[in-house]
Amino acid sequence: MPESVISRFAPSPTGRLHLGHAFSALRAHDVARTRGGRFLLRIEDIDPTRCRPDHVTGIFEDLRWLGIEWDGEPVFQSRRLPLYAGALDRLKAAGLVYPCFCTRARIAAEIAASAAAPHGPDGALYPGTCRRLAEAERAARVAAGEAHGWRLDVARATATTGPLSWQDAAAGEIVATPEIHGDVVLARKDAPTSYHLAVTVDDAAQGVTDVVRGHDLFAATHVHRLLQALLALPTPRYHHHPLLLDERGERLAKRAGSPTLASMRAEGVDAAELVRGLRSRFPLPAKGGE
Ligand code: GLU
Repeated sequence: MPESVISRFAPSPTGRLHLGHAFSALRAHDVARTRGGRFLLRIEDIDPTRCRPDHVTGIFEDLRWLGIEWDGEPVFQSRRLPLYAGALDRLKAAGLVYPCFCTRARIAAEIAASAAAPHGPDGALYPGTCRRLAEAERAARVAAGEAHGWRLDVARATATTGPLSWQDAAAGEIVATPEIHGDVVLARKDAPTSYHLAVTVDDAAQGVTDVVRGHDLFAATHVHRLLQALLALPTPRYHHHPLLLDERGERLAKRAGSPTLASMRAEGVDAAELVRGLRSRFPLPAKGGE
């Protein structure tokens, strides 16, 4: 029996959707639908300081306007925190994470004081301050209620898994090098999980076979692949699509003041035409090609 494809669109409700989101949603939708598969919607609302309910409503409205239909009820990450806590507990039990008490200011000061701070895709790497704490000090500070997040001990983690790779639709087999990110945060001081942990747990829990998302998240996949191996979760196929750029070659992002889908709708833009234009800009390769 042919495997049934499941893809998802997983926006964070931190603002209104723009054209880049529309393209990503459409691409994820098409990867599933052209193969008779299912397309899911997941609201990534784990950051209570940045996510807003009106933006969730906006996401539903915008997708409906575009004619993009999802299967089943949307999943809200904010309602799944116990699932992420369970995954973190497994990593704690395996000794692969450690509590991190550092403030942003402390990390920045350490990096500034270091002669050659190593950098990764998202800037300077965490200098490993709390990784070097003795077990007894860690336990005492946690027991005393000192605010802390949890970081992955990436060297220890990669030593337990050995070499890993994933299949990328455009780039082929990619060897995972999660160490380029250093010891990433898996649970924040102010949120009981992080993007990396929640997305990895959810893609597996929802049976996602094909992760379709922008090329800006390509580097994050190195971490997700490692977490899959540590948590014994399956590895989906990845499709990192090109990002839409404006006439000046700059990324169409909500922060850059690019028009939102809501404003386009208000201006009378024809949704069907918009969708046709997006599809023809980067056509989906023929069946099996992506
Ligand atoms: N929530 C992420 C974002 O809005 C996308 C997550 C993903 O597709 O893996 O950028």
